[in-house]
Amino acid sequence: MATDLQIGIRRVTSLNPATGEVIREFEPATEAEVIAAVARARAAQPAWHGLGVRHRTGILDRFRGLVFERKSEIARLITAEAGKPQVEALLTEVMVVLDGARFYSENSYAFLRDRALPHANPAMKSKSGRLAREPYGVIGIISPWNYPFSIPATETLAALVTGNAVVLKPSEFTSLVALELAGLLWRAGVPRDVMQVLVGDGSTGGALVNANIDKLVFTGSVATGKRIAQAAAARLLPVVLELGGKDPMLVLEDADLDVTSSGAVWGAFMNAGQTCLSVERCYVHRSLYPRFVEACVRKTAQLQVGNGMDPETDIGPLINERQLRNVETQVEDARLRGARVLAGGKRRKDLGPNFYTPTVLADVTHEMRVMREETFGPILPIMPFETDDEAVRLANDSDYGLAASIWTLDRARGKALARRVQAGTVMINDAISYFGISEAPHGGVKASGIGRTHGIFGLEEMVRIKYVDADRLPGMKKLWWYAYGQGFARQMEGFVDLMFARSWSRRIAGAMRSTGVLTRKGKI
Ligand code: NAD
Repeated sequence: MATDLQIGIRRVTSLNPATGEVIREFEPATEAEVIAAVARARAAQPAWHGLGVRHRTGILDRFRGLVFERKSEIARLITAEAGKPQVEALLTEVMVVLDGARFYSENSYAFLRDRALPHANPAMKSKSGRLAREPYGVIGIISPWNYPFSIPATETLAALVTGNAVVLKPSEFTSLVALELAGLLWRAGVPRDVMQVLVGDGSTGGALVNANIDKLVFTGSVATGKRIAQAAAARLLPVVLELGGKDPMLVLEDADLDVTSSGAVWGAFMNAGQTCLSVERCYVHRSLYPRFVEACVRKTAQLQVGNGMDPETDIGPLINERQLRNVETQVEDARLRGARVLAGGKRRKDLGPNFYTPTVLADVTHEMRVMREETFGPILPIMPFETDDEAVRLANDSDYGLAASIWTLDRARGKALARRVQAGTVMINDAISYFGISEAPHGGVKASGIGRTHGIFGLEEMVRIKYVDADRLPGMKKLWWYAYGQGFARQMEGFVDLMFARSWSRRIAGAMRSTGVLTRKGKI
């Protein structure tokens, strides 16, 4: 347990999931501290916005330099607190942040520039409109433990560069990584009140949702996401919800067996399966099924489970006992309903408190929990299909819709099938890794959430659109103002005919009827 509610003392404990060693204990932020932090952020935000986007991108460039200098230390800290192999921490967290900072730095100036909005309606031709993008003010960010650096960092950078202040409530399991992120941003030049971290648990998060923030970006489970959406609805707080996934992998009959089985094993077991974009369900064309399952079992047997600090480790521990029990329960349910456990399927107590062997399940069905609920563990359940239509039906038979992957040597066929899969992203011949493309929007459909992070669409979530319309003829009363009357109604009917009638003769007649409006003098 990361929080201790006994004898009324709430504590947030940073633990090494590979060893169970306590790294540090914190007192979680109280509701009063949350309210005070948001008030400080609100007071500091206008000056931050006033510095201008060039100034802010300069700070992002300095931040990128600092992250680069400390890349190995950051990766080690992530491994110590979240368990993943250090090389994964480097590639899927540090590198994602470096590229994200690059993207925001290169694109924010153009993104935030006001732009003219041309229009076609001749009745409105005296008007010229411009679009302005303005920061919300204070963005609350609540983040999970599975990507403790890349998720809060990319969201924070997008919020900061657009001129917002940020109050971040990281997962109670990975407070130290979040504090490292804040320290790097402060050193780069972000004022302390503009970027604050509130260490705490769910109730600290709840207090942040209810505090005086202008928008919330939440990443976490569907259950918490729904609770947050309800609280947000009561006060019309805009939210981005990046929630869970149950990503399907579709292996078509023309796929390369060796490449695809390696992709399945990596996609299911990377970060011990604790990735929102993990391959959680694998569907394989029946003609490949036996050989595919055999290849996955053989490749799984070669993986080394252990402490992520060991460079030879492929799969680290799960985050905690609760996660482990969830995985065990799903595997047991599948076993009881007839699935074959062909690899793994057990704990590795000899290695430490939270280790589970990578597991391959064959002959699974959609009646099993492992094919319906998010597993978030190193499990690869594989099921055969006969036709593309059946594969699409199985992929879409899910409450979730975060991402999916299609594996085929025929890219055109893969792209056509991608359009039929209900997901925020579909990758062809790879899984998960689009998360490293900072330009690519990230987010789901169905229970996987609302809104997007990353790329231009992620920046768009951080701003309010303002339409500024200036009339070019300030000395003229508008023709459509009061007073109305029969003559005016006739003129306007003519005008609508002029604009929209199908035949030219009606348009011309409409033009004649409406001309009088040009000399019309409004009575008031
Ligand atoms: P979680 O929902 O348990 O917790 C997420 C965050 O919410 C934590 O900071 C937690 O303290 C906070 N929280 C908990 N209860 C709260 C409440 N009532 N009000 C406000 N905040 C509250 O999720 P988790 O276990 O930390 O993360 C794993 C989940 O996150 C998985 O479902 C995974 O798929 C999902 N996830 C999604 C994405 C994505 O981009 N879509 C990315 C990573 C993880």
